Amino acid sequence: MNHIAMKNPIATSAAAAFSADCLRREVCLAWLAGQLHPAGARCPGCGVAVADRQLERWQSFGRLQCPECGKFYTAVTGTWMSGAKLKPNQIFVLAALVAMDVDAPLIAAAIGVSEVTVRFWIEKFKTLEAVS
Ligand SMILES: [Zn+2]
Repeated sequence: MNHIAMKNPIATSAAAAFSADCLRREVCLAWLAGQLHPAGARCPGCGVAVADRQLERWQSFGRLQCPECGKFYTAVTGTWMSGAKLKPNQIFVLAALVAMDVDAPLIAAAIGVSEVTVRFWIEKFKTLEAVS
């Protein structure tokens, strides 16, 4: 952390106001969809590509039914985000702050979760790095 920047009243005020809620939802969703599905939008059951007319719904993490195999799914189904309690904007901010070496207590404050949750996700990201 840059101590000169932190002493600047504008920077200090911005840091205090910074949170996962100050981001645009569609930007976070697009980033997360790209992370979860680098090969594009597909049914997690049979692998058929999501139809163009359903892409918007898929990209907003809405529920779809596959016309081929009948499986119900969202963009999160079967991915590392499946079952996660964090919202896309929280994951986005958490991942960005982890990459910037921000301390876990500050990340926890920025996304409104416990430090334990932040440490859980840091470990999860390490696991994902090892897999990919
Ligand atoms: Zn399918």
